[in-house]
Amino acid sequence: MSYKILLDERELPEAWYNLQADLPRLPKPPLHPVTGEVVKPEDLAPIFPPALIEQEMTRERWIPIPEEVREVYRLWRPTPLFRARRLEKYLDTPAHIYYKHEGISPAGSHKLNTAVPQAYFNRQAGIRRLATETGAGQWGSALAMACRFFGLECTVYMVKVSYEQKPYRRILMQLFGAEVLPSPSPRTRSGKEVLEKDPSSPGSLGIAISEAVEDAATHEDTNYALGSVLNHVLLHQTVIGLESKRQMEKIGEKPDVVIGCVGGGSNFSGLAFPWVADCLTKGEKIRFLAVEPAACPTLTRGVRAYDYGDVAGLTPLLYMYTLGRGFIPPAIHAGGLRYHGDAPLLCQLVADGVVEARAYGQRQVFDAAALFAQTEGILPAPESAHAVKAAIDEALAAREAGEKKVILFNLSGHGHFDLAAYAAYLEGQLEDYTLPEEKLKESLSSLPQVERA
Ligand SMILES: *Cc1c(COP(=O)(O)O)cnc(C)c1O
Repeated sequence: MSYKILLDERELPEAWYNLQADLPRLPKPPLHPVTGEVVKPEDLAPIFPPALIEQEMTRERWIPIPEEVREVYRLWRPTPLFRARRLEKYLDTPAHIYYKHEGISPAGSHKLNTAVPQAYFNRQAGIRRLATETGAGQWGSALAMACRFFGLECTVYMVKVSYEQKPYRRILMQLFGAEVLPSPSPRTRSGKEVLEKDPSSPGSLGIAISEAVEDAATHEDTNYALGSVLNHVLLHQTVIGLESKRQMEKIGEKPDVVIGCVGGGSNFSGLAFPWVADCLTKGEKIRFLAVEPAACPTLTRGVRAYDYGDVAGLTPLLYMYTLGRGFIPPAIHAGGLRYHGDAPLLCQLVADGVVEARAYGQRQVFDAAALFAQTEGILPAPESAHAVKAAIDEALAAREAGEKKVILFNLSGHGHFDLAAYAAYLEGQLEDYTLPEEKLKESLSSLPQVERA
């Protein structure tokens, strides 16, 4: 009886999979924040290198992974696929539960899958420094490591409340050699504007993005890097799903349902898109389940519209489900799931009914995380625990129905830097928060007026 399915490291994918090649309907294109025209490649050139702009827009199905990137991937890839036999037994379910363990990467999450190629393609374009934002620090620590590997400097605008309350990932970034600034910072005009209005602003991901984009746009040798949402980020993450397909093939199983948590949509899409391809092109029937927090319910309660990716309105307008760019989510512990928008490609699949969305409160999510740790021995990141909760619910439903169902979910990261959140859970201090309707209305009133053709 085996728990763990490994691939030979020579079986690491040679190309990323681009869903844009197979989608019957593409989402509406990004718009320029000032002119409102459809974004052209040259509009993105001040902040992204040519290779990534090309990957953002191409409909080519397979994008070769450069050997230098594969070499770094080999530090932790292919990641193991586990069968959660002890959890299955505990739940007394006929379902088979599989999970892809992305928490074994050096930075502790899937984020390194895109940080490495982003640093590589920027280095190749002669860029000297990358600027980025980070919430709880998962993306910042991944990019800091990737920059160090490819000889780039790294400036991270870290949401101030996390900078102060979650020092460990900040220390990790600093160890990798990154400069970490609490955001809002006086370093940028966007940061100064927020500080003038509210000197004690706790910051938000939207504010930090404004700062990082402004930094990149105003420095010739500096580019911007984003850890989720954009097409090229989702593309890089498809190594997860491509490996999972080979692994399941190896043991002769196929998933009936594929599950992932959603912050901006990258880990979910990375696992799901290669399987979605089979549904679009080969008529396979698989359910896809995207899981988000009830406190930041972008897919389940947001509206689909053009919105900015940041607070200041410096980024292109993306056509996505959004809660409004001014949305400041409550301080739930799944810091990586607090973004106001979601990846346009994922939103298209939700709108088309290919992907279902579901939201959970944080207490039930932490209950699921604790059960998972007690049965499987692995402490999930609070973000990943949303996927764990959904997998458990699917397995219980299979027990009710007496059906043998194959469940595959993404364990996007480990929770070793989140022990303060687990302490709060053990002390009974976690609160459930459901976004009130009035607050949602208020933040949606900030939506830019774009003709919605
Ligand atoms: C950042 C993060 C997420 C959410 O981001 P996505 O782009 O939606 O994947 C989920 N899990 C972990 C562990 C993260 O670090």
